[in-house]
Amino acid sequence: MLYTSTRDNTVKVTAAQAIAQGISAEGGLFVPEVIPKLSMAEITALCKLDYIGRAKAILRLYLSDFTEEELAYCVEGAYRADKFSSSKIAPVVPIAGNEHILELWHGPTCAFKDMALQLLPYLMTVAAGKTAGDKTIVILVATSGDTGKAALEGFRDVKNTKILVFYPNDGVSPMQELQMVTQEGGNVSVCAINGNFDDAQSAVKQIFTDRAIAEELAAKGMMFSSANSINWGRLVPQIVYYFSAYCDLLEQGALQAGDPMNAVVPTGNFGNILAAYYAKEMGLPIQTLVCASNTNNVLTDFLKTGTYDRNRAFYATTSPSMDILISSNLERLLYHMCGQDDAQIRAWMDQLSSSGAYSVPPALLKQIQAVFEAGFCDEAAVDATIHTMFEQYHYLCDTHTAVAVAVYEDYVQRAGDAVPTIIDSTASPYKFSSSVLKAVTDEVQQLDEFQMVAELHRVTGAAVPAPLASLREKQVRFSNLCNKEDMKCKVFELLGI
Ligand SMILES: *Cc1c(COP(=O)(O)O)cnc(C)c1O
Repeated sequence: MLYTSTRDNTVKVTAAQAIAQGISAEGGLFVPEVIPKLSMAEITALCKLDYIGRAKAILRLYLSDFTEEELAYCVEGAYRADKFSSSKIAPVVPIAGNEHILELWHGPTCAFKDMALQLLPYLMTVAAGKTAGDKTIVILVATSGDTGKAALEGFRDVKNTKILVFYPNDGVSPMQELQMVTQEGGNVSVCAINGNFDDAQSAVKQIFTDRAIAEELAAKGMMFSSANSINWGRLVPQIVYYFSAYCDLLEQGALQAGDPMNAVVPTGNFGNILAAYYAKEMGLPIQTLVCASNTNNVLTDFLKTGTYDRNRAFYATTSPSMDILISSNLERLLYHMCGQDDAQIRAWMDQLSSSGAYSVPPALLKQIQAVFEAGFCDEAAVDATIHTMFEQYHYLCDTHTAVAVAVYEDYVQRAGDAVPTIIDSTASPYKFSSSVLKAVTDEVQQLDEFQMVAELHRVTGAAVPAPLASLREKQVRFSNLCNKEDMKCKVFELLGI
């Protein structure tokens, strides 16, 4: 199986090359040339396997240049029992009726990013061994909060790698910041920037595609790669849990083989929901994909009108991991849906970077709308949803998950859709204790972060994840801050070159 670029169909690389390189030289994203298909019999056969077995079965279709031994080494290392707090890795919890929650936050940093970022360092080192000789891989990360920590934890002390993380100074939760600035490991650096996530992501993309920088790095025996969801190696592990969730629903008797399922995804960079789209294209009977946004609703507007327009106010919300106006992975969806027209993608992406907007033709919009529903909710709805979910079902959800639940409930009211549905739960509520506590108790309390955690535990009885509880004893190691214009210099400074 080969990969090409969304902006240049003449590009042909192996999975290992796509993963080691991260982004195509001309700025496009790597995509599989052909999406592999599974029959219903092959899907039901997955049900007998545990998560590791399911992951191997899906990943081997995409990583055809990895040997079975390499694949086993990667997957078994990533989803080891001591790394995840649930032996199911991604358990499905029934709520009521057709509503099921897919919990994706049982990994070491308590956000869904672990599902991919526990695996990516393994994939990356195997891929680098095949393609990059003995170069040191420098992982450059822009984060809206959760990717940064999950990538730091995944890559810490991984041989022949260094990792640099940039996050918006006022754009992450206190717990997210604490997780990053206390990160241990000899190959890690963290820096806050004066700017938002889009600024960080744009600067990182620019640094990646700057030839002069690449040459300077190469002279020092280093090369850049990405741990953001622009990297195929970040996306492909996420396809697995949609198959796994379908199997779990079959086992729980909520579905019969072949029945349709919906998925609701709290969306930022469009990576998670795109993985669900790949699962659907592979033959998983997903009927509707619901794209849920917070007040940064650029995707809701796009999916309703066909015009993507980032020229709008940016809101810092209580679901900061979704505070994004440039959803990078939409480029991959458009590529697959417009008949792999690379020239068209180049034109739209040029318009996006020059004027901040582009429009797709009505026929393409219709095709997209046949698969994707969209909605957004405001902060009051987030609070109300957390409150009701706890009061009615004794289920404590974080702010991002609440966005998805609220949008789903709206959608069901509107469309009367009775298809069994999984709603992705993307973070532990303890990563956003202050917002969650306020929503549950209807009171604002003047407590520090750890008192807040203790109070939320006292009020709800929900278990506090050990990795968050232990942060209290950790030392702050990083206090870097720079302007977005200076990120390039900062990269060189932090790399010591
Ligand atoms: C990253 C993240 C999201 C958004 O996922 P995308 O793949 O970027 O769309 C949603 N919720 C949480 C908690 C996240 O960390």
